[in-house]
Amino acid sequence: MARTLIAGNWKMNGLKESLGEIRTVASEMGKAREGVEVLLCVPATLLALAAEAAQGSALKVGGETCHPKASGAHTGDISAEMLADAGASHVIVGHSERRMDHAENNETVAAQAEAALRAGLTPIICIGESLEQRKAGETLDFVASQIKGSIPAGVDAEQIVIAYEPIWAIGTGEVASVEQIDEVHRAIRARLGERFGPEKADLIPLLYGGSMKPDNAGEILAIDDVNGGLIGGASLKATDFLAIYAQA
Ligand code: PEP
Repeated sequence: MARTLIAGNWKMNGLKESLGEIRTVASEMGKAREGVEVLLCVPATLLALAAEAAQGSALKVGGETCHPKASGAHTGDISAEMLADAGASHVIVGHSERRMDHAENNETVAAQAEAALRAGLTPIICIGESLEQRKAGETLDFVASQIKGSIPAGVDAEQIVIAYEPIWAIGTGEVASVEQIDEVHRAIRARLGERFGPEKADLIPLLYGGSMKPDNAGEILAIDDVNGGLIGGASLKATDFLAIYAQA
């Protein structure tokens, strides 16, 4: 059985004044519950400060993307080593906003995941279909192709996390139904089983992301093949994020 991960994604939000939310999560989440990890992925500008704010608690902090290379002439980019140096334990790779805004493809995402592992970080590899693909009945094939292309060769199942985020549900308030999530998560687990073997595949946390909020988290987190959430908007407020964590 995979461990549970409740992960926040602050995206391009948060100034130093927002660190109070991290301090509140860190102080109010209490000791980590057995098998449940809690993580906030924040903008790189806040990472070291967020790590400091989380110190002494079970809250982990992470980055939102990384460059495949460790260093070099890549103005404005951030390497996985830099994230680790700032206190990150995880990094999100392949978020649909990165795939769209920065033309990142499966190959880029696999290279970023490899970089994360090289730096000792756990990559949270994001996949998910567009509304057009869902309407065309292409969801399962598309997600399978993303799994195939975005997980680097040679990784162990225990080293990665997968987040299924239907693009049409991200930031829209439109959450996928329990049936839709269940169908896709089962299919993802089956594809991972083909790649890693069923026992190893069972150890990979599969997160759902897309308008998860305190009032829908309970039913989503209760789905068999859902092992946690990747939470955008509702991770910005400590009270909402803690309310989701309480249901994990
Ligand atoms: C996300 O950014 O990964 C996400 C799921 O956002 P939201 O929860 O706001 O839909």
